[in-house]
Amino acid sequence: MPEGDTVWNTARVLHRALAGSRITDSDFRVPQLATTDLTGWTVRESASRGKHLLLRLTAPDGADWTLHSHLRMDGAWRAYAPGERWSGRPAHLIRVVLRSPGAVAVGYHLHELALVPTAEEDRLVGHLGPDLLGPDWDPAEAVRRLGADPEQTIGEALLDQRALAGVGNLYKCEVLFLRGVSPWTPVGAVPDLTGMVSLAQRLLAANRGRWTQSSTGSLHRGQTSYVYGRRAQPCRRCGTTIRKQELGERVTYWCPVCQPEHPDAPSPG
Ligand SMILES: [Zn+2]
Repeated sequence: MPEGDTVWNTARVLHRALAGSRITDSDFRVPQLATTDLTGWTVRESASRGKHLLLRLTAPDGADWTLHSHLRMDGAWRAYAPGERWSGRPAHLIRVVLRSPGAVAVGYHLHELALVPTAEEDRLVGHLGPDLLGPDWDPAEAVRRLGADPEQTIGEALLDQRALAGVGNLYKCEVLFLRGVSPWTPVGAVPDLTGMVSLAQRLLAANRGRWTQSSTGSLHRGQTSYVYGRRAQPCRRCGTTIRKQELGERVTYWCPVCQPEHPDAPSPG
C-alpha cells in the first residue's frame, strides 16, 4: 500500500535512476500531457512530500518545472536499465515513460499527473500538513493540526493529509492498535496525541528504505501487522477476533479488547 514510506522509497528510486541526467525521450499517455515533450530537459532531483511525488526538471531554456504524480492505492513508478524488459505492470496501465541514457522510468496508473513551474508546487502540495519523512518535520504543528477538530474520530483525522502528510490506512490502523485507542474515539478524547504522532513518525521512518511494510518488527509474510488486513484472525496480544468495518470513506481494522470503545464515541455497530 503506497503510504509515505513507499512514496519516499519511490522518490529515491527515481532520483538514483534519473537525477543529473538529460531526458532523451518522453511519452505521456494521459490526455492533459499528451503533447508534452521533455526531450532535452534535465532531471534535477526527485522528492516526496507526504504521498505526493515531485520530479524536478530544468527545461532547455533554464526554467525549473516539477512533474507531479500521486500513487493513491495502486500507482507505481519503476526504473529499468535501457533494454531491460518492463516487468512491472500491464502495458495499458502505463501513464508516462521517461528515457535517459542510463535508465528508463515508467509510471504505472499514476494519478494527478501534472507539470507545473517548480515555484508553483504549493498549488499541488501546499495544503499538506507536516511531512512525517520530510526535512521540515514539525511534530508540534502536526499535533496542533491533528487536534483541530476535536469531534472528528481519530481514525479519520489520522488519514487527513492536511494534518499529517504520509499516514495511510495501514499505519493508521497499526498506530491506533499500538496506542490502545479505538478508531472511533473523538480526537479531543485521545489522551496523548503527541505520543501518537511520534509513534506514526517512527513507524514510517523504520520502514523507509525497504518495500515490506511492518509494524510488528517481523518481515515474514503474514506477520507484518497487528490488525491491518487481519479480519477474523486472533489478536496477537489477547486472542480476541480482529474486526473490520467502514469508518468514513475507508475500512478500519481493530481489536475491540485492546482498543476499548470510548464512552463519547459513536458506536461502530
Ligand atoms: Zn487484542
